Amino acid sequence: MSEYDTAAFWDLDVSHHLHPFTDYKSMKAEGTRIITAADGHYIIDSDGNRILDAMAGLWCVNVGYGRQELVDAATKQMKALPYYNTFFKTSNAPAAALAKRLAEMAPDGINHVFFANSGSEANDTIVRMVRHYWALEGQPEKQIIISRDYGYHGSTTVAASMGGMAGMHHQGAALPDFVQIKPPYGFLHQGNMDDATFAETSASWLEAAITEHGADHIAAFIAEPIQGAGGVIIPPAGYFDHIQRICRDHNILFVADEVITGYGRTGQWFASQTMGLAPDLIATAKGLTSGYQPMSAVLVGDRVARRIIDDGGEFYHGFTYSGHPVAAAVALANLDIIEKEGLITRVREDTGPYLAEALERLADHPLVGEVRSFGLLASIELVADKNGPVMFDDEGATGVICRDHAINRGLMMRAVRDGMILSPPLTFTRDDIDTVIAIARDALDDTLITLGR
Ligand SMILES: *Cc1c(COP(=O)(O)O)cnc(C)c1O
Repeated sequence: MSEYDTAAFWDLDVSHHLHPFTDYKSMKAEGTRIITAADGHYIIDSDGNRILDAMAGLWCVNVGYGRQELVDAATKQMKALPYYNTFFKTSNAPAAALAKRLAEMAPDGINHVFFANSGSEANDTIVRMVRHYWALEGQPEKQIIISRDYGYHGSTTVAASMGGMAGMHHQGAALPDFVQIKPPYGFLHQGNMDDATFAETSASWLEAAITEHGADHIAAFIAEPIQGAGGVIIPPAGYFDHIQRICRDHNILFVADEVITGYGRTGQWFASQTMGLAPDLIATAKGLTSGYQPMSAVLVGDRVARRIIDDGGEFYHGFTYSGHPVAAAVALANLDIIEKEGLITRVREDTGPYLAEALERLADHPLVGEVRSFGLLASIELVADKNGPVMFDDEGATGVICRDHAINRGLMMRAVRDGMILSPPLTFTRDDIDTVIAIARDALDDTLITLGR
């Protein structure tokens, strides 16, 4: 028996709470799952079910749940200084210490940090900053930001306009001066091309967009090193080499959105390091605090930082909670955990490769068209027919069926279209991965039955 009255919670929630990314009518009909507690790698709902969280919340709980160090860091900071702003030449000790620490961890040539509270705000900040930069360079007409279909950069109006999610564009987030190109989505677009050819071909879509809109009008290209919410799209080797060369040739800034890939998920602090990228700016959030506090950080490379520091005058931008002392204290304690427990090495040398190997156990399943992973990010693509492969006509329906079976069996995965997505805490063990694969296989079998096959 649980101490929580699930039906009463549903009633409150469904009657008054408008959730993010939710179909309200169907939620009203079906109710919500109330998560009441979490511990280690498990979340616990109001009926007392324990569910293995292979999504680390929303790609963010990198050190797992229930970490007393983070509770202590927040408590201590709240007692000392619960809040003060970082506007008007004031600061606080945790924010200053965190800025230095991030500058040290960041790829070479990045030495400054701007704090905000979410990935969306980080990306809004980047748009403001790169346009400010080009104006200072005497090229104010460089306004356009190029991104990719299925890119996810957040849900403020700017971030959603910049992303490549058509549904969001259709609901009031289609500002001018944002252009999308096709992503290097091998499963859909590669066909018979080898990786090198596909890398070159998909990078040429950037060149084509630059030719179409004119480099004189383009401020930056932004990309997630691995597209997360778009379905864990992993580029072929060499893709970003071409992309970075194209950006350099046309004098366009290169921005990496590492909101998911940052803070260890790919086996280095940043995927930019794993993949050998040299971005001008990096957006980070999620794993920065493992989600224990809302916080994001824009890592600003020297080219942009020098200009806006030396010649920019006042930068008219910032948030009440930028550099929040409690969030910064939690971030510092979180980075301590990642470092002390060797989580990044573990992902790189042990659990990352093990996840890739374990996923292969699912490859022969009749519903599985492809498994792919990079560090602790993975997708299991479901298909109507392995030969082809042939995708489902009603895109997304089967993914949701499989996800719901998995949750009922005690595994939290996420469905993106018909891909089952994994992004577990970096503290995951081989045993946890084995559990994921075993439950996922059962959920796939359940799905076959639901489909009547
Ligand atoms: C989640 C996410 C964002 C948005 O972060 P919020 O904190 O939800 O605003 C931006 N970019 C990427 C790559 C993300 O995964």
